Amino acid sequence: MTVKRRVTVLGATGSVGLCTLELIAAARASGDAEIEVVAVTANTNAEKLAEAAIRAGAKFAAVCDPDSGDALKRALAGTGIQSASGPDAVVEAAQMDADWVMAAIVGAAGIRPLMAAAERGADIAFANKECLVCAGDAVLAAMARGGGRLLPVDSEHNAIFQVFDFERPHRVRKIILTASGGPFRQRDRASLKNVTPEEAVAHPNWSMGAKISVDSATMMNKGLERIEAAYLFPVAHDLIDVLVHPQSVIHSMVDYVDGSVLAQLGTPDMTIPIASTLAWPDRVPTPAKPLDLAQIGTMTFEPPDEDRFPALRQSREALKAGGLTTAIMNAANEIAVEAFLQRRIGFLDIADIAEFCLEEARPDGLSTDLEAVLAADALARQIALKRIASLGR
Ligand code: NAD
Ligand code: MG
Repeated sequence: MTVKRRVTVLGATGSVGLCTLELIAAARASGDAEIEVVAVTANTNAEKLAEAAIRAGAKFAAVCDPDSGDALKRALAGTGIQSASGPDAVVEAAQMDADWVMAAIVGAAGIRPLMAAAERGADIAFANKECLVCAGDAVLAAMARGGGRLLPVDSEHNAIFQVFDFERPHRVRKIILTASGGPFRQRDRASLKNVTPEEAVAHPNWSMGAKISVDSATMMNKGLERIEAAYLFPVAHDLIDVLVHPQSVIHSMVDYVDGSVLAQLGTPDMTIPIASTLAWPDRVPTPAKPLDLAQIGTMTFEPPDEDRFPALRQSREALKAGGLTTAIMNAANEIAVEAFLQRRIGFLDIADIAEFCLEEARPDGLSTDLEAVLAADALARQIALKRIASLGR
């Protein structure tokens, strides 16, 4: 039986988005899947988006930046592919009738399109972790109303999804999220003061977008993933552990009460988790290199170090505090990472800015509905920007 899908890719010009489109092309060519591409979206790069839309045979392309709308129209002239621009156009793309939507926008900017796809009942291939970190309650409520399935793409969560016994969650002793440790795993904290964006984005095992690469270097990525796991899996927060595993072969594990530990393994290649969400509950072949354990030879493990990587502690505490705390931490981190990539602050300032915002931001009320989340997100961004300006670099 072939896998049939009508798909939309949000964030189609990014690392995950392009990987998804390549996988779709390979699955179509192999005859294992019949896939129609409904819509593709991007932030600003009209040419790259048009190219992706044409190659995928999409019906609609939306660029978030209103000023890039004309360039997109020109690039698609004569192809029959419709296009639009502006943040609402990205939401419109998410509202079109795809039954599978890849959420691969980076950052909280992905919330509105994600909510739109969730509300209408699409299955969501979920990469855009910041959305669950800041608006987890709202996203899960929208998914429940729509009736679609949230299929984790993040390699760790995809691994857990594959081995988690959803019928017997009370038999789970803990979830173990593996972490590569990033490019600075063996560096002492003082030596990180002057690292450059180029050094920070040079991840040892995965090739990814700039923001998540910096998050991997600070280990905020694992912090965000802990919070993501708390929303995706029915386990108590303190049962989610982090384990450093530099080879990135074991993508995560579930430890059951009888002492059995189930893991999912694979070459570190995002086509594997993406394929598992595309075909779910079926499977399709991927171009990923088969895992060769004899060649890998050794797998090692270390405890995480919250002193050298304060983002791990911040995110653990933010999850425990609950409410809007994770939204504040996420927004502050997004602003700080952007400033670091623009060389306006140093690497160690990233965690300091998050810490400052966590102390300073006092959102109104306890509600975690979408409006409250967006207000807390905006407040934290303002505080983070002021703090960056006061550092005066
Ligand atoms: P990326 O920077 O390579 O791509 C981001 C995409 O989002 C691009 O298509 C960009 O045009 C679009 N985008 C950015 N800002 C936008 C905005 N304001 N409005 C609309 N679109 C916007 O990022 P990536 O590495 O592909 O990561 C995407 C998401 O997936 C992130 O949340 C990341 O944490 C998660 N993720 C990525 C990987 C990976 O291997 N790259 C693995 C796991 C999870
Ligand atoms: Mg991950």
